[in-house]
Amino acid sequence: MHYNEPALVVFSGGQDSTTCLFWAKEHFSAVHALTFGYGQKHAHEVDVARALAEKAGVPIDVMDTSFISTLSHNALTDTSIPMDEDKPAGGPPNTFVPGRNLFFLSIAAVFARERGIRHLVTGVSQTDYSGYPDCRDSFVKALNVALNLGMEEQFCIHTPLMWLDKSQTWALADRLGVLDTVRRETLTCYNGVVGDGCGHCPACKLRRAGLEKYLAQKAGTL
Ligand code: ZN
Repeated sequence: MHYNEPALVVFSGGQDSTTCLFWAKEHFSAVHALTFGYGQKHAHEVDVARALAEKAGVPIDVMDTSFISTLSHNALTDTSIPMDEDKPAGGPPNTFVPGRNLFFLSIAAVFARERGIRHLVTGVSQTDYSGYPDCRDSFVKALNVALNLGMEEQFCIHTPLMWLDKSQTWALADRLGVLDTVRRETLTCYNGVVGDGCGHCPACKLRRAGLEKYLAQKAGTL
């Protein structure tokens, strides 16, 4: 499906949203990226995002949403909290930032509306959602309805990764011709290490396991 309309990508410079950025370039007539600063420990995420957007030839805006980090305590924005290395048995991990995707998508919708854009793209995935409730399909669909009602608009939130696991997300990046870019130049690591990352945080473990699975599958089919 190709839309002869523009889209706004909620863009962090990580594996998922970078894959979505290139996916959006294939499916929409024009693409704009919106990145959020929310007081994350690794502020150079924003520089990584800018560099990737430039490489993709996509204009990018950076919005300050640092108020999010003042609302709650979590390991992504509070340097005094060591992050959970593994997913806890009950409840989301302490890297969960309550309201983050709610704020991001709501702000993105207003930003898009001002520019005559109704298509929003986000890289959330229910398959590997790491216990973050705001990455689930039901949440995104409910918010889409709420945004449409709240602004009398017809927004369409696209979630191309929703039902993909990490290996399938790598496969998508490869099909889009950007596997190497995504592997070397994105930042997913909770410890702020670009590319293959620190190797031991939960984000790195998930990312690496997916890459190894995808590369093994690809080697087997060549
Ligand atoms: Zn890491």
